[in-house]
Amino acid sequence: MKTLVVGGGLTGLVAAERLAAAGIIAPVLERESEPGGACRSIEADGYTFDHTGHLLHVGRPETEAYLTEIGVWEQLRVWERRAAIVVGDHVTPYPIQIHTHGLAANVRRDCLLGFIRAWGGDGEDEATTFRDWVLERFGTGLAEHFFFPYNRKLYRAEPEELGLDWVGRYVPKPDLEAVVDGALGLHDEKIGYNAVFRYPTSGGIRLLPDRVADRVPDLRTDSEVVRLHLGEHWLELAGGERLAFDTVVSTISLPRLLDMVCDELPSDVAEARRALRWVRVLNIALGVRGPAPVPEHWRYFPDPEVSYYRVGFPSNHGRLAPDGCHTVSVEISFVPGRGDVVAEAAEAETALAGAGLLDPENVEVRQLTMVDPAYVVFDHDRRDAVSMLRAWLRSHDVRLTGRWAEWKYSAMEDAVLDGMAAARRLAEEAG
Ligand SMILES: Cc1cc2nc3c(=O)[nH]c(=O)nc-3n(C[C@H](O)[C@H](O)[C@H](O)COP(=O)(O)OP(=O)(O)OC[C@H]3O[C@@H](n4cnc5c(N)ncnc54)[C@H](O)[C@@H]3O)c2cc1C
Repeated sequence: MKTLVVGGGLTGLVAAERLAAAGIIAPVLERESEPGGACRSIEADGYTFDHTGHLLHVGRPETEAYLTEIGVWEQLRVWERRAAIVVGDHVTPYPIQIHTHGLAANVRRDCLLGFIRAWGGDGEDEATTFRDWVLERFGTGLAEHFFFPYNRKLYRAEPEELGLDWVGRYVPKPDLEAVVDGALGLHDEKIGYNAVFRYPTSGGIRLLPDRVADRVPDLRTDSEVVRLHLGEHWLELAGGERLAFDTVVSTISLPRLLDMVCDELPSDVAEARRALRWVRVLNIALGVRGPAPVPEHWRYFPDPEVSYYRVGFPSNHGRLAPDGCHTVSVEISFVPGRGDVVAEAAEAETALAGAGLLDPENVEVRQLTMVDPAYVVFDHDRRDAVSMLRAWLRSHDVRLTGRWAEWKYSAMEDAVLDGMAAARRLAEEAG
């Protein structure tokens, strides 16, 4: 059985590596000149930049076992998250729901009263929109001061346009006592999926895909797939070479995959393709002389007046800058095809300087990278569209694996697990 893996990011690399371990050689076709996808790191003038912060959260023993097997685990250091939220002129630790003590008194009052009023409310499980879910769970104050403006900036969508498929794991709900303690500055327990994280003791996050790639027997870089013929079971590379397949494991973005299908799309498939929404993210990576201006690993910015939603200081957790220097990673989200990227990047640096987070005179290196797609917009059409597209592609022997292929929200650990699961299924079927 001839299997082709499209995309040499973490998911595709792990799938091919595990297939090879089971005795099946599946070529990996990667568009770029090096593998790793969103987990690549760039080196420039002594600085190392990831594609925005890429911190590893490991919750499953099989992930730890795999990272140990490929020689990555012992090269990771464990960090306790240091993250903050900026509301107006005030900075308070993340997550806001148990740390309102750092906010202005009137904002703290709104958040606390809103939470207490929502606490006794009915129907928490009845919410179907992100807007109602936040109001029922956290109340009006936290909604208006953080959850609504922050998610508007990140997803470029109104809270009522978003469904709930993505929230459970990522937005922790504390109890009333924790919220009251948090308003008084008495809560010091770290909660949430990212309370601790791991990061390489030296160099960027590319350590992880690089180690997997070393074990992939047939990795073809500079091999962009441009056409896919489902009826005849071949795909075509940018240079014109055609490769026949029995099965394709696609890890590239779902709309891009559909756009390269040269068979005529049935009308319901074409409609589902049009329903897929996403945002792209500009990462402004800066290498700056002098020590980092703040101790945090990253800060969130819900303020609608500034374009960025998150600013990271990656050299606070990794050896990513020359001695005495630091790195900054600024994230701005865009609707595809909209927004003046260059102007927004310049404005962002001015705003950062105004906030005392950047000294423009000390910027030594600047790298602008567009991550596209970056975040799937979980609107109300997503679930049905994805399940029908998945079934249709599967009926043509194309399997979707990973964050952007399955059109979901997931992290590097999931990429490893998704790759492993895809390989396991194929190896079982091959007998
Ligand atoms: C802004 C941002 C921040 C993140 N932060 C974190 C974090 O802190 N922690 C964490 O665990 N996860 C984080 N993630 C998630 C993480 O990046 C993904 O889970 C992971 O990289 C997914 O890997 P993948 O292989 O599925 O996709 P990708 O990395 O996108 O790999 C797909 C590959 O396909 C290639 N490709 C595309 N089109 C073609 C084509 N036509 N032909 C051939 N090849 C093609 C691409 O070049 C790419 O190498 C973040 C993601 C984003 C966007």
